[in-house]
Amino acid sequence: MTELACRKCKYINMDATICRVCGSSELTKEWYGYIVIVDPEKSQIAQKLGVKYPGKYALRVG
Ligand SMILES: [Zn+2]
Repeated sequence: MTELACRKCKYINMDATICRVCGSSELTKEWYGYIVIVDPEKSQIAQKLGVKYPGKYALRVG
């Protein structure tokens, strides 16, 4: 199981070749730290990051 963060939206995909959220193929294994967004509409962090879908997001993408 490889966790790959999307360079565009930072969503962490499991064993994917394209990002489930934005469709980008720019995925990387080099990412640091993550946050789990459960309810994007109520989360200030999600709004700050521009996150619209629940899931796990990298804080920093290498
Ligand atoms: Zn993405």
